[in-house]
Amino acid sequence: MTNTINHFINGVESAGSGDRTQPVYNPATGAVSAELRLANKADLDNAVGIAKAAGEVWGDYSLAKRTTVLFRFRELVAAHVDELAELVTAEHGKVLSDARGEIGRGLEVIEFACGINQLLKGAYSDQASTGIDVFSFRQPVGVVAGITPFNFPVMVPLWMCPIAIATGNAFILKPSERDPSASMLLAKLWTEAGLPNGVFQVLHGGKETVDGLLTHPDVDAISFVGSTPIAKYVHETATAHGKRVQALGGAKNHAIILPDADLDNAADHLSAAAYGSAGERCMAISVAVAVGDAADALIGKVRERAEAIKVAEGTDPDADMGPLITAASKARLVKIVGEAADAGATLVVDGRGFTVPGKEEGFWVGPTLLDGVASDMTAYTEEIFGPVLAVMRVDTVEEGIALINANPYGNGTAIFTSSGSNARKFQRGVHVGMIGINVPVPVPVAYHSFGGWKNSLFGDKHIYGEEGVAFYTRGKVVTSRWPEPSHESGASYNFPSN
Ligand code: NAD
Repeated sequence: MTNTINHFINGVESAGSGDRTQPVYNPATGAVSAELRLANKADLDNAVGIAKAAGEVWGDYSLAKRTTVLFRFRELVAAHVDELAELVTAEHGKVLSDARGEIGRGLEVIEFACGINQLLKGAYSDQASTGIDVFSFRQPVGVVAGITPFNFPVMVPLWMCPIAIATGNAFILKPSERDPSASMLLAKLWTEAGLPNGVFQVLHGGKETVDGLLTHPDVDAISFVGSTPIAKYVHETATAHGKRVQALGGAKNHAIILPDADLDNAADHLSAAAYGSAGERCMAISVAVAVGDAADALIGKVRERAEAIKVAEGTDPDADMGPLITAASKARLVKIVGEAADAGATLVVDGRGFTVPGKEEGFWVGPTLLDGVASDMTAYTEEIFGPVLAVMRVDTVEEGIALINANPYGNGTAIFTSSGSNARKFQRGVHVGMIGINVPVPVPVAYHSFGGWKNSLFGDKHIYGEEGVAFYTRGKVVTSRWPEPSHESGASYNFPSN
């Protein structure tokens, strides 16, 4: 019998009143593993109404009480890493160790949010004017909706909800409909941690549910992570409805490899960054920009590593990489790689025909390495979001930087070099939000913020870290005077000064 995945409303699982469902697949077998309930308008109105009321109460909780819940939630997530990872692997397909890794990065954000009392201290100016003190502090925005992608079903919700909740908001998570089960366990853990009912809810659905959240008058802020066209749409729609929005989009991340780099080290990292999680990371390296005579040696070394990768079901302890998320993503990748080969790129390693014996219905592709990719090929212009590394050749580091800057995305980038001056030129010159120096996947730690430039982020606040705290709160500045009864009032018809 197929399992049915419910919503999580007001502290309990709920079937809602919608009658539509959508299948959830195990990408390693291609089989349907569950039916996901999709919210209708009444479910959405109900969840938002509950969130609004719950948020008003929660936002008034003392910081001490809020942090107690945060600390308990941290312990519960840490105690359920294996269970969460199994849910992720079953629906996403990534290998278990990688799933545990994403939960570890999510835990970092919870730990950051445990220090919310320090982050919300505000500022006080004593005697700003004679007899007048000025102080500023921040309050919750109200109801926050988080709309998340399939590729990090635990980490990305945890980029958002610990900080949104610690700052006193109610949070509605609309997870990806491809791998929704982990968010249900997160909801149960929040409740077990003592979070009042209705402060964290999960509402499943697709475009209709997203549109409902973007336009609902009682939703105050939207945190979105997903592909660029949807991020742009989400930003435009929700801002037009008066909400604050941070919408993180897709990516095409380049790594420059200079001839002075340790090429074995660079090849190890490039291979891991391009093929880890089957290339389905927004910070995956998908373009290797080889400078000068680095190219030939580098390609040989990456080829050796790509051919040694074990592609298997994520539960196999020896697997390095699992399947893609859907049959459609696989078909798209096969098409784009074919177009590159037809246009003159060299297929150094071709993963298109790969399959796992006994699991032929799974959405498998193997690591793929393309050499001689040109900037007008779809293998370069499109975000493939699969295990494909495209090699491009340039003569100088300046040419590499210019290539990166001409690309419409600006999420992450890396340089492999032993030259400090080239690294510095790179870090200062690239129009990209997150930069790695001999670090291929430079996802910032939780106490810095995560965000790209250009088509990789719509909105002006990055996610988590102090920018996250600012996004989920509104500032207030109080100018106060407590006159002594005997003193003159000091009122004046002129604009107040001193
Ligand atoms: P997606 O854009 O298809 O979906 C993201 C969310 O938007 C999901 O919850 C989905 O239900 C919803 N959605 C999909 N189509 C919609 C529509 N037409 N209208 C309204 N809502 C819609 O993304 P995905 O395939 O789940 O995830 C992969 C993408 O996310 C990649 O492009 C990747 O680069 C990006 N991503 C970016 C970051 C980042 O930090 N910049 C992080 C992770 C993933």
